[in-house]
Amino acid sequence: MDNNPTTGQCLCGAVKFRISGEFESFFLCHCSRCRKDSGSAHSANLFSSTAKITWVSGEANIKTFHLPGSRHIKSFCSDCGSALPISQPEVGLLVVPAGSLDSPIDIRPDAHICSSSRANWDEALTSIQRIEGLPS
Ligand SMILES: [Zn+2]
Ligand SMILES: [Zn+2]
Repeated sequence: MDNNPTTGQCLCGAVKFRISGEFESFFLCHCSRCRKDSGSAHSANLFSSTAKITWVSGEANIKTFHLPGSRHIKSFCSDCGSALPISQPEVGLLVVPAGSLDSPIDIRPDAHICSSSRANWDEALTSIQRIEGLPS
């Protein structure tokens, strides 16, 4: 088995999980749905067709929202609202929000996707000043 499982949890700590196996792809999606559901410039999701998730605690806290008429799904903790992994064994897919993980991962994002839908402020973000902590 996996000696170094990838672990994660929600912000309030109620939901904890462990993932064993490899991720195949990592996409930053700028579509309007992902911007709404993340509240940010883009989602950052890891995808695997082989990795397995084990819910360590708080599985009863997980709520899943399926946007009607779409394939857009979001899972989140019903207490703190943090994004959580979505396991879809029926289609052989595990989707994991990268920000929900506590352990480092050895995969880098493959691509920005739906880039044409990005917010109008989402331009050349890497050129903006970087502050180590909070602004003074
Ligand atoms: Zn929570
Ligand atoms: Zn998207």
